[in-house]
Amino acid sequence: MTKIFNINTIVRESVSKLKPYSSARDEYVSDGSEMLFLDANENPFENGVNRYPDPYQRSLKSLLAEQKGVSEANMLLGNGSDEVLDLIFRAFCEPNQDNIITLPPTYGMYKVLSGINAVENREVLLTSDFEPNVLEILRTVDENTKLLLICSPNNPTGNAFSREKVEELLEHFNGLVVIDEAYIDFSEQESWLSELKKYPNLIVTQTLSKAYGMAGIRLGICYASEEIITILNKIKPPYNVNQLTQQQALKRVMNQDVVEKEVVQILKERDELIEAMKQVEFVQEIYPTDANFVLAKVDDADKRYQELLEQHVVVRNRSTQPLCENTLRFTVGTPTENKKLIAILKQLG
Ligand SMILES: *Cc1c(COP(=O)(O)O)cnc(C)c1O
Repeated sequence: MTKIFNINTIVRESVSKLKPYSSARDEYVSDGSEMLFLDANENPFENGVNRYPDPYQRSLKSLLAEQKGVSEANMLLGNGSDEVLDLIFRAFCEPNQDNIITLPPTYGMYKVLSGINAVENREVLLTSDFEPNVLEILRTVDENTKLLLICSPNNPTGNAFSREKVEELLEHFNGLVVIDEAYIDFSEQESWLSELKKYPNLIVTQTLSKAYGMAGIRLGICYASEEIITILNKIKPPYNVNQLTQQQALKRVMNQDVVEKEVVQILKERDELIEAMKQVEFVQEIYPTDANFVLAKVDDADKRYQELLEQHVVVRNRSTQPLCENTLRFTVGTPTENKKLIAILKQLG
């Protein structure tokens, strides 16, 4: 049964009234081949990038639609998922009035975005096994709670959350549930994309920055109901995904088998890294991971972090995060990098 949800009760009034900027390239339907484009004050001499990019990234969306089994009308692309998340805040959260719920320890950008947008960030800690505290979350909701940000698999803990818990939240929270799936391609758990039709309050974000190996081009993807996508399209900068990014992304997504092979290799490396880390004396606990990184509890994170730096290895010290005292987060590298890391870890007594 589909959940009953009315997006018009959630959207900011200023956004709902907004008449969006209409770009020149919105106003024709053609493949463009027989047209003279004298509308946008571009330099007419071809150099590959002299024209404005497609504001709706149609080629890339149609390829993603085919691969993900989601219609193009349910997709919005952005300059990284960071832009996508910012658009969600700006569309639905009234500054100095609304609030969001985040579940620390989690991705740091949610808090930054709440600060930038002057939206109160209500933090409900994960339980000691790094799962959402469903009762406490629902108790924290009030009539101004617009977003619940769920990162699964979660950064920095690495685990994918229990589906039952996330489902309960989708059922019982009447704002938007944003599931950040930056690491989904490394996970055994299925994506929440398949549940979009069932939950009209669900937004799923993905990115080309991690498994797809394209952090440098900045491409984030938002999947949601057509109503939500229409609202986000209204407020997005018209040319938010540049042409070089669209081209590079298209090539990479077309070569899906290469991405899959790299993911398999990274997962194999991850498991070897975990086995090796178990032999390191100062590593006290290695947390289960569905991602391309490993969170480990060590004897003294600040000390070990410094020692690794001295050996030219940069890891992430997550000790300041709640429930993460004395933890370091290790990204899985190439086989050569991982061998080096393991050798160095074993050396540090
Ligand atoms: C890395 C990461 C992202 C990626 O953001 P982009 O802006 O797409 O590079 C998003 N969410 C989480 C939780 C991440 O760890």
